[in-house]
Amino acid sequence: MRRLVPTFVLLLLLGSALVTTAPGPLVAVKAGRLLDVAAQQVRENVFIVIEGGTVKEIAGSPPSGATILDLGGQTVMPAFTDTHVHVLLQGDATEEDYDAQLLKESLPYRALRATKALHTALQHGFTTIRDIGNEGAGFTDVDLKRAVASGIVEGPRMFVATKALAPTGAYGLSGYAWELRVPKGVELCDGAEECRKAVRDQIEHGADWIKVYVDRSYYRQPDGQIRSLPNFTLEELKAIVDQAHRTRRPVAAHSITPTGHALALAAGVDSIEHGDVLDEASIRTMAERKVYYCPTLTVSDFVAGPRPPIWADLQKATRESFKKALAAGVPIVFGTDAGGFDWDKINEAEEFRRYVESGMTSWQALATATVTAAKLLGQEGRIGTLAPGAHADLVAMREDPLRDITATERVTLVMKDGVVVFRKQ
Ligand SMILES: [Zn+2]
Repeated sequence: MRRLVPTFVLLLLLGSALVTTAPGPLVAVKAGRLLDVAAQQVRENVFIVIEGGTVKEIAGSPPSGATILDLGGQTVMPAFTDTHVHVLLQGDATEEDYDAQLLKESLPYRALRATKALHTALQHGFTTIRDIGNEGAGFTDVDLKRAVASGIVEGPRMFVATKALAPTGAYGLSGYAWELRVPKGVELCDGAEECRKAVRDQIEHGADWIKVYVDRSYYRQPDGQIRSLPNFTLEELKAIVDQAHRTRRPVAAHSITPTGHALALAAGVDSIEHGDVLDEASIRTMAERKVYYCPTLTVSDFVAGPRPPIWADLQKATRESFKKALAAGVPIVFGTDAGGFDWDKINEAEEFRRYVESGMTSWQALATATVTAAKLLGQEGRIGTLAPGAHADLVAMREDPLRDITATERVTLVMKDGVVVFRKQ
């Protein structure tokens, strides 16, 4: 027994020495065309040299001893980030769809379905996601993030917002017999102190972001303008934002109309989610303060049919808002609300096409899911680029997305941290 201990210690030391000195496998990806999205430049016939899952350099020839991955006939670019998803949701075009998931699916079952959503996202070229509220699934998103990071489940790296916040009476499930206690899709908090405590608790349990539902119940006023009901008071919202920022966590605000934007921006949130109806004052503030706008045009198209008519009005309004925000220089970041639509039915990458249809150049659209998403997540230089030191996350396409943006919907290969995680047969 006594002799075993030193041997064990020796093995530990040897193990740690190997970990610190081993450079990892050397891979050189030959790119026929490489899109440098930050510089808006195309480089031809270059090698992306990858060591241990990280980009080492972009070179004209491969280093000796490297394993070559030949994508010489293809266009290669940094992999995508979707900054507005719900992996624990599988489509909620109608209230019934939503309620059934919270009432009839156990959390383990929802977690299993989420692993499929993670896999789908990866196959579509998304190697990073911001999961922006897990709809009544507690802190399951933190567990999923951990499972991905530890290699138990294959999926995009995750930034998570856990439970999300709304005040009493402002979020489903609702409409059930009063004597029943039904689950809620968010954490409820009322009053500044209770909301501060909720933020503290979410951060303690692993929230990278705080998500707050700022408005609801969208309606058209007699003057034709679309407005909504405010959820929190300004005092409550300020407490949420202040508490999150004290712990260096940003705040994402679900806000559809100017009723919500005025409160959210006055409280100092970091991103406006959806923002279907953007007024001039909100656009000005967002451009000046660089508050991110996450437009989620894909879900807007998805729910316009099945939901009440106001949603079709919002679908039209959101295209106009997008154009105005783009013209004013508001930072626009790629977000689809996948999970709001079924992961299996729609490829998240369709969002790119919707941005181009709404006035962006292809370069601008590609930037939303790469360089801008990296900025939003505080990951500049780490994701959304293939510069030295970045995660070796890339996608390949047979067609050129600069000519046809829908090429992004047909990726042939996806690499995450230097490992090929999807290859089209
Ligand atoms: Zn959402």
